[in-house]
Parts: sequence; structure tokens; C-alpha cells
Amino acid sequence: MKKAVYPGSFDPVTYGHLDVIRRSAALVDELIVGVLQNNHKNPLFSLEERVKILLEVTKDMNNVRIESFTGLSIDFARKCEAQFLVRGLRAITDFDYELQMAQTNRIMAREIDTIFLTTSLEYAYLSSSTVKEVAFYGGDISQFVPPSVAEAISRKIMAVQEANRVTCKSN
Ligand code: ADP
Repeated sequence: MKKAVYPGSFDPVTYGHLDVIRRSAALVDELIVGVLQNNHKNPLFSLEERVKILLEVTKDMNNVRIESFTGLSIDFARKCEAQFLVRGLRAITDFDYELQMAQTNRIMAREIDTIFLTTSLEYAYLSSSTVKEVAFYGGDISQFVPPSVAEAISRKIMAVQEANRVTCKSN
């Protein structure tokens, strides 16, 4: 059985990620999307929220499983008995880091290969960080994320802004 793990922060998932999920799921028997608990990043959505959002937007994809993990992607892939890691490449700026990471992973885990999918051109510019930035300033994000994700972002931003307002008032 061919299995691949697609690891990432998915904070939150965008149409760019979904395009990679759909295309890589077509290459294997099972695709496991690994949502990373990264202690070095300060995510907008909690790990549980990111998993929940992904579950919702991939519910029509039969061979896609959503899991969370901490630590190294190769250890998670081994735990899942996956032979491949999937990563997306948007531009040359992704390439340096991704190549280095893939080579390091290959040294540490000879049995696991990294598969790179180049982005579909319409999503080449798209990243979770720009989506969050546009949303923070009240911009329309409907072209970047599915409707349920856009709603989750709006709710989260309203909660964050409300919390900031309360803190400012009490200062
Ligand atoms: P990370 O924190 O690991 O960069 P991300 O959630 O930002 O996690 O991205 C996970 C993977 O998805 C990375 O390989 C990234 O290059 C890829 N990716 C993100 N956005 C896009 C996009 N628009 N098109 C193709 N791949 C993408």
C-alpha cells in the first residue's frame, strides 16, 4: 500500500494546500495530512482548530486522513508507515529551504522519499500568512480559502480584536 504524509502548519489551510492535497492523494492509496504542532511558531489557530478545519474541507476526499503530530516529519511518516513525504513548491524562494530539508530527511530516513508538487499557477502567490494579513485588514479572502475557512478566520480575528480592545481599555 502506497502511503504519503503531507506535513505542514496549515494555519489555516488555503486553496493552494487543497490543490496539493487533491493532486497528491491521486498518486497514493492513502494520504495523511500531518498538522504540525510547532512550538517555534505562534499560530492563529490552535492545533485542534486547524485539524477540525482540515477535516471539514477534505470530507469528500476518501483516501485522505487528517492527523496532528509533533517532532520530525520523518518520524511521523515512519509511524504512519508512509514511504513518501509530500511538499509543495510555489517559487524559487521555497526551493532552497525545501531542497535542504528533503536532503536532510533523506540522510536520516533512506526509506522515505520526498515528492515535490509544483503549485498550480493560480495559487503560486498564495500563503496562509498573506491570507491572514489580508483578513486582519478587512480584505476579501474568498478567492484564497473555502467559505468555511473564511468564516473561521473572520470569527477568530473578531475574537482576537475583541481581546485586544479589552486589554487596551484596562491599560
Ligand atoms: P510550513 O509551516 O511547513 O511551511 P505550510 O502550511 O505553510 O507549512 O505549508 C505546507 C506545505 O505546503 C509546504 O510545502 C508549502 O510549500 C506548501 N504550500 C503552501 N502554500 C502552497 C501553494 N499555494 N501552492 C503549493 N504549495 C503550497
